[in-house]
Amino acid sequence: MIQDECLERFLRYVKIDTQSDDMSTSTPSAAKELNLAKELVKELKELGLPAEIDEFGRVYSRLDGDPSLDVVGLNSHMDTALECSGKDVKPQIHENYDGGDIHLNEEYTLSPASFPALKNHIGDTLVTTSGDTLLGGDDKAGIAVIMSVVAYYVKHPEIRHHPIAILFTPDEEIGRGPEHFDAKKFGAAYAYTIDGDYPDRIDVENFNGSHADVLIEGVGIHPGEAKGKMVNAIRVGEEFDSLLDVNEKPEYTDGYDGFNHLLSFQGDATKAELHYIIRNHSLAKLEKQKEEFRNAQAFLEKKYPTAKISVTLGDDYRNMKEVLDKDPRAVEHARKVFHELGIQPISEPVRGGTDGATFSFLGCPTPNLGTGSYNHHGRFEYLSLRDFHQMIAIVTAIVKA
Ligand SMILES: [Zn+2]
Repeated sequence: MIQDECLERFLRYVKIDTQSDDMSTSTPSAAKELNLAKELVKELKELGLPAEIDEFGRVYSRLDGDPSLDVVGLNSHMDTALECSGKDVKPQIHENYDGGDIHLNEEYTLSPASFPALKNHIGDTLVTTSGDTLLGGDDKAGIAVIMSVVAYYVKHPEIRHHPIAILFTPDEEIGRGPEHFDAKKFGAAYAYTIDGDYPDRIDVENFNGSHADVLIEGVGIHPGEAKGKMVNAIRVGEEFDSLLDVNEKPEYTDGYDGFNHLLSFQGDATKAELHYIIRNHSLAKLEKQKEEFRNAQAFLEKKYPTAKISVTLGDDYRNMKEVLDKDPRAVEHARKVFHELGIQPISEPVRGGTDGATFSFLGCPTPNLGTGSYNHHGRFEYLSLRDFHQMIAIVTAIVKA
């Protein structure tokens, strides 16, 4: 077994089950997320740093640096995704990967035929799942990067560096990561979420996110006497959906294209509910998409005056680009460091939200960086040891004076 303190840290964290719970209203959503929070506080204290878990299950810590420099914040999330279990994770280490199939267990194979990016990792050491769970590199690889950087500077007090503000959050996967974020307590001039994949990425823009809840009350009547009277809520629901732009669907879009995603459609002849999420990088285009929902409602209200149609639109998060354009320190600093390290940084629009987007709007500009782990949210997840180490080197350089 290879000797690698940073890898050992990662392996320690993924073995702690921290799956969040979208049915829970408590904070954190699952009490077991606190098991990792407690482990991190213990390790931070062993390194001599102040560390605490606040009443919402967030770990705050801090490593002093040169007080004349900006405080740089580092954040990762402790919970894992809901799509796949994170219980009893048994990470498998594959040294000197040969570019072929990796048999995770009897049933599942991690293959470059399905995941061609595996070919980037020939000769590398990969950490995979045992096929039964996810790995949890999202985002425990991020946590291990941050802890490794902090441990490095504790060991090397002679190296001048920025003061570092550390924050580990629960419940990112259920969209509640930035809840109760206290920018003042965090105390960073700007920050980075370490929650992506490829090490050469700096994510600076994400979707604007809204949602629509459509409720339809039809007119129920004995089907034998229904002529001219019945309004079937299911059919009105289908018609509602057909009135939205046919191209604005997740399965037909990529890059900067936005979409309306029908998450659920439930009902019967008398009552139906449709729930959508609405996404676009452009706020103006997002507003246009919301307008489509209002237009569909108005049209169907006219067509079916005896039915009741309600559309509730709400906003969930916004594109951080708006903030990062106004305060570009975090992005410019990261780009400069990448160039110094000989890495050409790539920024692609994130087709989702990031906790950093909300942190940005709450006063702390926070672009997102990679982790060196891939195929998140499922059993085919893996960590590239080389990319993980590169991320540690990048973040070490970012906080260096
Ligand atoms: Zn994540």
